[in-house]
Amino acid sequence: MAMDDLAEKVRAGGRLSGPEALQLYRHASLHLLGDLADGVRARKHPDRIVSYIIDRNVNYTNVCVARCSFCAFYRDVGASDGYVLGFEEIFRKIDETIAVGGVQLLLQGGHNPDLPLAWYEDLFRSVKQRYPEFKLHALSPPEVIHLSRLSKLPVPEVIDRLIAAGLDSIPGGGAEILVDRVRKLLHCYGKATADEWLDVMRHAHRAGLRTTATMMYGTVETDEERLEHLLRLRTLQDETGGFTAFITWSFQPSHTELGGSEATGVDYLRTLALARLVLDNFDHLQASWVTQGGKVGQLSLAFGADDMGSVMIEENVVRAAGAAYCMDEVEIVRNIEDAGFIPRRRNMHYDILGGPIFRERAVPRMHNLATARRDGDASVPSELLNYPARSRTGKEQRGQAEPDSGLRPSGPDPARN
Ligand code: SF4
Repeated sequence: MAMDDLAEKVRAGGRLSGPEALQLYRHASLHLLGDLADGVRARKHPDRIVSYIIDRNVNYTNVCVARCSFCAFYRDVGASDGYVLGFEEIFRKIDETIAVGGVQLLLQGGHNPDLPLAWYEDLFRSVKQRYPEFKLHALSPPEVIHLSRLSKLPVPEVIDRLIAAGLDSIPGGGAEILVDRVRKLLHCYGKATADEWLDVMRHAHRAGLRTTATMMYGTVETDEERLEHLLRLRTLQDETGGFTAFITWSFQPSHTELGGSEATGVDYLRTLALARLVLDNFDHLQASWVTQGGKVGQLSLAFGADDMGSVMIEENVVRAAGAAYCMDEVEIVRNIEDAGFIPRRRNMHYDILGGPIFRERAVPRMHNLATARRDGDASVPSELLNYPARSRTGKEQRGQAEPDSGLRPSGPDPARN
């Protein structure tokens, strides 16, 4: 189709086929792509509101057996700088988050074989007991699959148990590119195939949860595979309607096994615009200022994004791969207003909670994002002793007998996963 006809189809609200989207992505000028994506954004959000959420990105453990080749965050079981956060440490982080107007934790971590399902259930219950209104946006699909394998329970049952314990929504992490050829090359096929990732989201949506969807691009995928990822999300959204938002970011290569170079800012803006055009059944697209920096993050608002994501407060994963951008609420609001939009605080469901909190009351400025723990803090939370470990290192650390020693493990009933 001629470029003018394609542009006309988008402006008239028509749904793009795969080949049409690919043609736009490859051959439309940056200006045209941005203009079309901005048009879709304006149709969906004519009020010119750009939202953001105040939350904290807490990584409860960096110990992981998945070993994805693009990840600079994980540590092997037994590594001296591997950690698990204690419940009290997490409560402290929640207190600090609430103090600056935060409403939820984005809680994700490695696939730690020594944290059974009961640990997550107890954590969620104790959070909800202390902070009944505070939300838990927690455990991406590969983490849910990891818990399903660890507990030998089917995914829907794991999700039901986590919801009963206090899970409010599931973040869309771990999607990378939802094409198994790519997943095999990135060593993330084992943690979740494309179908498995989508299936967790399907079950979560059926169980009544809303979730987000993500895409990490710029590794080994082709343009066609990038597009296939978006089309698979669009198909599931047609089926369930359970996705609230889509977030894309570029692979951050520093300190990773995969290495290479990072995609450019223009590639980010083209990919974001492509997503806005293809994902016609998604209400919201977030700008990824955490990986692209504040300036490209602000430009995202002209390329289809209607949300500036999270104020964050804490970040560990992207920082491990070399990106350390920080924007507090004042800075996010400044960027939104300077781009000609109206800033509004929201919750995970994109309900508007109000205007900038710093205009309502004094909030300390934040010039650096916090980390999970202070460097050199190797403390082991005392409550971990209550849960059976699976790895040899974990058992030794917790003073639990090997199963073949004839001694019973200490702690609660190991059948409680
Ligand atoms: S991306 Fe997640 S699952 Fe993969 S190695 Fe890193 S922490 Fe583990």
